[in-house]
Formats: sequence, C-alpha cells, structure tokens
Amino acid sequence: MAVLIDVILPLAISATYTYRVPDNMPCPQIGTRVLVPLAKKEVVGIVSNLHTSPVEDSIRLRDVLEIMDPYTILSDEQLTLWRWIADYYMCPLGDVMAAALPAKAMDRQYTMAENKRRRVKLDTFSDELEEKKPLTPAQTAAYESINNQFKSKDIVLLQGVTSSGKTEVYIHLIADQLAQGHQVLYLVPEIALTTQLTDRLQRVFGNQLRVYHSRVSDAQRVEIYRQQRLDESPRLIVGARSAVFLPFSHLGLVIMDEEHELSYKQQEPAPRYHARSVAIMLAHNVRAKVLLGTATPSVESRYNAEQGKYGYVCLSERYQGLQLPKITLIDLQRQYKRKEMYDHFSDPLVARMREELDKHKQIILFQNRRGYAPFMQCTRCGAIPKCTDCDVSLTFHMASRQLVCHYCGATTPVPAVCPHCGGEMKIHGFGTEKLEDEVHNLFPDARVARMDLDTTRKKNDYEDIINAFSRHEVDILIGTQMVTKGLHFDDVSLVAVLSADHLLSQPDFRSAERAYQMLEQVSGRAGRKGSAGEVIIQTFDPTNPIFDYLRNHATEQMYMNQIAERETFRFPPFHRQISLILRHSDEQRLWAAASLLHTRLQQVFGARVTDVVTPSVAKVQKMFIRQINIRIEAKANIAKAKQMISEQIAYVLALPACKGVVVLPDVDPV
Ligand SMILES: [Zn+2]
Ligand SMILES: [Zn+2]
Repeated sequence: MAVLIDVILPLAISATYTYRVPDNMPCPQIGTRVLVPLAKKEVVGIVSNLHTSPVEDSIRLRDVLEIMDPYTILSDEQLTLWRWIADYYMCPLGDVMAAALPAKAMDRQYTMAENKRRRVKLDTFSDELEEKKPLTPAQTAAYESINNQFKSKDIVLLQGVTSSGKTEVYIHLIADQLAQGHQVLYLVPEIALTTQLTDRLQRVFGNQLRVYHSRVSDAQRVEIYRQQRLDESPRLIVGARSAVFLPFSHLGLVIMDEEHELSYKQQEPAPRYHARSVAIMLAHNVRAKVLLGTATPSVESRYNAEQGKYGYVCLSERYQGLQLPKITLIDLQRQYKRKEMYDHFSDPLVARMREELDKHKQIILFQNRRGYAPFMQCTRCGAIPKCTDCDVSLTFHMASRQLVCHYCGATTPVPAVCPHCGGEMKIHGFGTEKLEDEVHNLFPDARVARMDLDTTRKKNDYEDIINAFSRHEVDILIGTQMVTKGLHFDDVSLVAVLSADHLLSQPDFRSAERAYQMLEQVSGRAGRKGSAGEVIIQTFDPTNPIFDYLRNHATEQMYMNQIAERETFRFPPFHRQISLILRHSDEQRLWAAASLLHTRLQQVFGARVTDVVTPSVAKVQKMFIRQINIRIEAKANIAKAKQMISEQIAYVLALPACKGVVVLPDVDPV
C-alpha cells in the first residue's frame, strides 16, 4: 500500500490535491506544512488528510518533496474551524488558509523549528504593573451578572452605554481567566487598536499581553503565531478580526468589543467571514465563553439575547456619574432659507463652537466623507468626471490637486474646464478636507487637526493625531468615522455632525441601524468628568424618527422598531441572506450568466430569489458587477440550501457562454 496525503494549497479552487508520500519519508501528521509540486512550481501546503491506496493506483500521483517542520502548524481544532468556515461561507479551504495564516508562514524559507538566531523580536513591556482599578457598584453588578449568566449560557451580550467603563469590567474578567491558567482573546475593530487601549492593558497585564493586527509586521505576526502554537506565548491576545485564526491551547474567554462594528466582516477577498460568527464557533469547539460588548448592539445579537440564546447584561450608568450628552438638531432647510449659514456651518453651531473655544474646551466635527468634494460637475452640460475603470464619480482632493477614485485609487489632474464642452467646472458637496478649510476661515486662531484615511497613511499618523488631541494641542478635531471609535478625551464638550443625511439615505435594510449606531457612538465622545456634553446634528430631515431615539438614547425602542421591520420584510435574523456577486469584464456575457443563474435558482427556490440586481456601483476596476440575493427561512436546512446553490453555480459556470464569469457567494452580507 502507498501512503497518500491530501494537501490544502493557497488556491481559490475547491479541489482536493492528493500526493504520495515516498517510501524514504516519514509519514507527515495532519496539520504539518509540506512542500509539494504543482504544475511546474513547488508550493507550501498543509496536510489535511491521510489515507492509503494500492500502489498501482497511486502511480499517477506526484510525490511530496519535503516535510517542512518538526511540528504541526495547525491543530485539529483549527482544522475543524477552517472546515466550518469553508462550508459556512461557501469558499475553498485554500481561501481560508490564505486569510488565516501570516503570509510568511507560506514561505518555504520559514521554519517552525527552534532557531533563535532568525527569530524576530517582539515588543516587551515594562514589568512595573498597576493594580486593576476597583469597579464601581454598577460595574460590579455587571461583572457578577456576567459570571452568573456564564453558568448557564456560553455567550453573553453586555450592553453598556458609552463611557460606562466596559473596559474595566473586561479587565477584571481577563484577570480571573489568567489566574486560572486560561487564555483570553480580546477582539476589537482594527481602528480601535490604539495605544489608548493597549497602554491600559499593558499597565495591568504587562508581558502577558500580545497585540495582533494588520499594522504588526508579517514577521512579528508569524512569530506570535509560532509562539501560540507551541504554547510559549503570553496569555492575553488583543487583536483585530484575523486574531480568531491564532492557535489557542486553553482558551477560556473571547471578548468581542464593539460587536456591532461592520469591520468585523471581511469583504475582500474571500472568505467573507464575520469574526463574531467565527469567534463563537472557535469558543464553542473548545468550550470557552464569549462576551459580546457594545453600547449599540447589532439587531441580530440583541435578538439572540431576547430569544434566550445569549445571556444579557445591561450597564446603563456612565462612569463617574457622567451624564449622557444633550442632543440638539438643526434644521438645515430653515437655516439655508434664512441665509443663516456660513459655508456648511449653521449660525447656532458657529456660536456654540465659539463659546466652547472661549472656555478652552475641545470640539469634534464629524463628516463621513473624505476629500474636498465628492464630485465636480460642468455648469454648462452637466458632465460629472467619472473613473474610467469604475462606475463612480471622482472625488476632488484639494491638497494633491487631483481627482481620486475612492474605489480603485486611480488619480487624474483636476480639469481646468469641462473636457466635453469647455464649460466651467464646479465642486459639489463637502468632505473633511473642505471642512478643514472652512474651520480655518471661521476660527483662524483655533488649532485644527484632521483624521481620515488621507491623513493616516503612515504607520504612526493615527496615533500622533490622537495623542496631540489628548494632550490638548489641538482644539478642533475633524474626522470621518475614525473619530467615533471608543476614544476617550477629557476636554471634549461639543461634538457636531455636519450632515446626517448621507448616513440616513443608504439603500439598505441596515441603513437606519447603522446610522443610529454611528451617531450614538460619535455622541458618546462628548462630555467627560462632571459635565454633560452636547451633540449638534445638522440635517435636512429633522423629523426622521431616528433622531427621537437618539435624543432619548432609546436604543431599546430603536431595536423594537427595526426588528418589527425585519420580520415584515423577511430580513435577517428571520431569514438568512446569501448574496451571489457575479463579475466579468464583458457586460453582455455577465448579463447572460446572471439571467441564467437567476432562472435556475428560481426553479429551486421560487420567490426566495430576488431579481438580478445592478448594484449602485456597478463596475469596479473594469469588472462589471451584478448581484442575486437569496433569502432562506432561518429554520430551513441552510446547509442543504447552500449545497443546492453551489450546484447551480457549478452548472452555469461550466457552460461555454459563461466562461470566465466569477461568482462569489457572500453569506450573511452586511
Ligand atoms: Zn460640459
Ligand atoms: Zn476607479
């Protein structure tokens, strides 16, 4: 008999790659890295299965070239999780491997074996530790309630208003786990991984802490991975969504902070996984507990709590008796009619800003668009410059004097006149860059900083801005949603949302939920130490019910309203959604494939399949895009449904007329 192994290769193809173990080679264990031939190349893969076959049957198979490490790189539990992700998110195991391992781990030069000279050094922290802060009575109650609920539930949702000190509750729970010799995984959205959080954790946990996210170098990531795998490593991992893929040998608790955050869902490339679902499965497989924390729970998690699937703990008192901010709406229509505007600032907002600056307080201005102006338009023929490769208008950037595509990054110089008719070009709308200009004109003496993707491209930019603002070297901070994430500043008394309308007008069933979460989070930045802050929201739509919820901080009513809508219109959590995204550079061919797939799916799923949708951005980087949505009853056999969908996709893609069309399933899209 010949010994055969199946190998996971970093390829986006659902095929099994089987190789023969040569007679002079010891049999590699499942989870070991091996070097194998693939066409004319040699690639690194991971053994996923062992079996035998009669020698004569194995003759056509190629031989394994090399076993690369003395240890397995992947545990049985990790392989189980990878398989679950591949099944659930309808993608090849190779895609999961590419997402799960640091790139260097797929390098044939790299070895897990002991070789200290080549190991990269990881950051070490001071050994002088601080005591945990004692919990307030409200925090103590939450802490005890969480522990009680963990006796009967595996997952608990902690809903704590902004500035209630959730982090302190987490710290006490982490300390308990570490004392019992357990590991803790603490997940935060990428953007919240600032020194504000890690400093606080370092001061308490010192070198028991490791930070794992995309700004950590690949060499350091692969070293953290190796230490975790060999269990040489500290016990507390703080990381962004990809940290769910690290090996854990005795995980006790997963904390997911800001569980409602969209950035927990990976969009590109596949697997389009949600870190919350993966974390829950990871914990489930090793009997660890999961704590989901947020001020504004996702509708799905709140529903699971209501149904008794999750435990639920509420922390409604702000730290140090801090009051919730007062929310003031400004009707832009009225302001413009009365001509009581200066650029994009209403007179009442300017007056309030002046008062706060005179009191030496700090101000945050929120506008969820970067660049100077979202688009330019010819005043004569109405032409709008668009990206040649994407179906989107180009954003005007003043500093670089360029038009930029926010989808593919392509840039082009600003046209002096209309390229079609020679008419005058005018800018429309406003982004953070323009806001900065306007603030300089309005408050020439104020110290202003801007935080958006354009000002935070270098490694330390983000932290530098936050530190300068914390030290009160900046009076006014202008930013996109980056400024909404869990940051704490003592002197911010006023937060202004320059235009809430863009947030409210998204064509998506989650639009109200998202707008509410974002506005509630940005409001949470106002008011520290003893005084209630104020939030001013400018809008053309002041009667939108979302503002009533916001003004009353009525998260619960907001949820009731949303869940009723979701039930009526058959959206999650009552129905599961699977979107199929089709792409091709030839629009005709794409359309033919989409129509055919749609027809076949409808024969199987009937009215559960929507029409072929042309998304609002229907072309990106020369690829046209169409979408088909399928909504399956939550109680139905979803695995069976996915299998039927995969069969239809395979059938259509095998047709010559559909050659080259790409179909990407997106399970539970957000
Ligand atoms: Zn023109
Ligand atoms: Zn583009």
